Amino acid sequence: MNTIGENIISLKRELPPEVKLVAVSKTKPVSDILQAYNAGQKIFGENRVGELLLKKNQLPGDIEWHLIGHLQTNKVKSIISSLSLIHSVDSFRLLKTINDEALIMNRVVSCLLQFHIATEETKFGFSIEEVLRMMDSEEFSNFRSVRICGVMGMATFTDDKIVVSSEFRSLAGYFRLLKERFFENSPEFCEISMGMSGDFRIAVGEGSTMVRIGSLIFGDRK
Ligand SMILES: *Cc1c(COP(=O)(O)O)cnc(C)c1O
Repeated sequence: MNTIGENIISLKRELPPEVKLVAVSKTKPVSDILQAYNAGQKIFGENRVGELLLKKNQLPGDIEWHLIGHLQTNKVKSIISSLSLIHSVDSFRLLKTINDEALIMNRVVSCLLQFHIATEETKFGFSIEEVLRMMDSEEFSNFRSVRICGVMGMATFTDDKIVVSSEFRSLAGYFRLLKERFFENSPEFCEISMGMSGDFRIAVGEGSTMVRIGSLIFGDRK
């Protein structure tokens, strides 16, 4: 078996240079994260607020922390100053809460809009209709403390590559639609976060700019 550092290096070698690697370290100890960090990895993704804050406190300050899991509105205040990107904005109510709290803290928080692209019902996310309605609303146009940097989605958990690639293709299509309609003059709207250990090659083929990889780097989670 390869070491964590070797896994980081070989993934970076394989990924096209414009695709960012988010190392998903949920459930893994700080010592594992340090091994990845020492191999040059600077972006880590966690899905729980409490776990992220605990780890951040014990690790180097130049790590970029991304939240990739569902965020409850009552946790927003405690986390936003610790994050460089929230991948998992999945409702208007959550985006509004982030905007309101960020305004109080005099910050601008970078966010991705999470779309529901999979067939499973358990996965969070917007539909394209909901996002279009939100973007056209006056309330949204007054948000000054969130920076929408792109889209995120998770494909159905299946071996069927046709299903996975068509779901990723629809996410990339939503990105282009939003870019044309609302973000043509916003260079920061540039990210398509898609692809995990089992499907990142398909995601990259469909235009991913950010892959979120856990088990392929750190080994299986219990
Ligand atoms: C856990 C998780 C990942 C990483 O999953 P792996 O299959 O271990 O690569 C990516 N994205 C999200 C949202 C996750 O929750």
